[in-house]
Amino acid sequence: MTPVYRFAPSPNGQLHLGHAYSALFTQACAREAQGRVLLRLEDIDRVRCPAHFGHQAIEDLRWIGFRWDGHVRWQSRHLEIYRETIDRLAGMGVLYACTCTRGDIARAAAGAGTRDPDGSLLYPGACRDRGFDPAALETHGIPFALRLHLSQALAITGPLTFRERGAGPDGQSGIVAADPGRWGDVILARRDIATSYHVAAVTDDAIQGVSCVTRGHDLFHATAVHRVLQALLGLPEPDYRHHGLIRGGDGEKLSKSLASKPLRALREAGATPDDIRRMVGI
Ligand code: GLU
Ligand code: ZN
Repeated sequence: MTPVYRFAPSPNGQLHLGHAYSALFTQACAREAQGRVLLRLEDIDRVRCPAHFGHQAIEDLRWIGFRWDGHVRWQSRHLEIYRETIDRLAGMGVLYACTCTRGDIARAAAGAGTRDPDGSLLYPGACRDRGFDPAALETHGIPFALRLHLSQALAITGPLTFRERGAGPDGQSGIVAADPGRWGDVILARRDIATSYHVAAVTDDAIQGVSCVTRGHDLFHATAVHRVLQALLGLPEPDYRHHGLIRGGDGEKLSKSLASKPLRALREAGATPDDIRRMVGI
C-alpha cells in the first residue's frame, strides 16, 4: 500500500516559516517513502479561521513549492461527518455534557490546579456524575461541551501505545506508551462548534487513509488522546513522526521571532522560494 502523509495547518492567520518547515518536512518524508501527500485545512473554527486565510495558505504553500495530491480538504465543509463521530462516541457511553465555564473551572481548581500539556487547567470533573441530558440542555438553551469520560474510555481500550518514527520532545521514539491521563476528561465537542481538533483530525486521518502523521513537537502529547479515539472507534493506527523546532540552513535553531515571520512578508521583502528552503534548512 502506498504510504499517505498529510500537512494539516489551522489557517487562523498567515502561514509562517514554522509552517513552511512542517510542510516541506512532510513532503520530504513522503518523497523518501514514495508516498502521497495530502493538504488538509483544519478550519473547524470559522471565527478564528475565516476562508480567506485558507485561500492564502494554499497560495503560500504553492509558492514555497509544496505540492499535494488530490483536492484540498477543508474541514469546515465536513462538520456533519465529525458529528457522526461524536454520535458514535456518545452511543458508547464515553461522553458527558459539561456546562462549566472557564471561570467555574478556575474557581474549582482554586489556584492550585494541575495543567494539561497545552497549559490549560485540568478539568476537575465537576459534571462527570451530574448526568446532564444534552437534548434537555439544548431545549433549555444552556450551552455545554461534551467531554471524554477518560476512565470509562480506558476501561474499554486498555493501555495504549503508538509508534514514534521521529522523536518526541524528550527523545521518545519507537513504541511509546500513550499517556492520555495528562489531559483528563478532554473536550471533544466544544460548546461553540460541536466538534474539536481531536475528533476532526482522527476522523479525517482515517477517512483519508493517512499512514504516517508528521507534525511538530507541540502536538506530541495530543497523540495519546488520538490513540484513545482510534481504539474506541476501531480506526487504523497510523505511525507518527514528530519534528522539533525548525533549524536554519546552518543547523542553528531559528529564533522564535524568525520562525513566526509570515511567508507573505518575506515574499514581499523579496525572498524567493529557494531562500525559504534555505532558511528552514530543507
Ligand atoms: N491543525 C493543527 C495545527 O496546525 C495540526 C494538526 C495535526 O497535524 O494533527 O496545529
Ligand atoms: Zn463541567
